[in-house]
Amino acid sequence: MNEQIIDNLVDQVVAKIHQERSFLVEASGRHIHLSQEHIDSLFGKDYQLTINQYLSQPGQYASKERLTILGPKGALHNVVVLGPPRSASQVEISGTDALTLGLKVPVRESGDIKDTPGIMLINGNKTVCLEQGLIIAKRHVHVATKDAEKMNVSHGEIVKVRIESDQRSLIFDDVVIRVSDKFATAMHIDYDEANACSFKKGIRGYIVK
Ligand SMILES: [Zn+2]
Repeated sequence: MNEQIIDNLVDQVVAKIHQERSFLVEASGRHIHLSQEHIDSLFGKDYQLTINQYLSQPGQYASKERLTILGPKGALHNVVVLGPPRSASQVEISGTDALTLGLKVPVRESGDIKDTPGIMLINGNKTVCLEQGLIIAKRHVHVATKDAEKMNVSHGEIVKVRIESDQRSLIFDDVVIRVSDKFATAMHIDYDEANACSFKKGIRGYIVK
């Protein structure tokens, strides 16, 4: 084989590895997770959320239910409730949303809600005042256990992810890896981050170490 052919083969293999190690990036809009207790308070006793659309993570869905979030400076209307119910309610918004509400909101991993601000949730004349649970979600990659080895990552690791897009490619630092056999491999960013990289559906990310 001459050098040219070998170079082409090497390029093809590198491109294949690159593609195999890439993952889908999804933009998460603002959303609410509710405990059954809070579902009862907002929709009625033993109310069950209506499944509207399943999400990429197995078992997770967007419901038909919508709530208003009210802060000291403003409100966000028609905010989707995600299911299934969780042990603790949690509201995930973007930094821009935090400005609309007039609240200082920390960047946290999902579930890490200690010492986060509370917020008022409204459904018609029913309200719930969460004592805590308002967060800006830390950008993260859900990694299925079977993919973790091939991607050379472990649970809790912080990585950089390169997003290739038209005109606004960028590298996100401070991305947390979350590994579980309950996950489908995909990266989640919020709408502020999505706008920063000119997000389009189907866009892919690559870990840069
Ligand atoms: Zn996620």
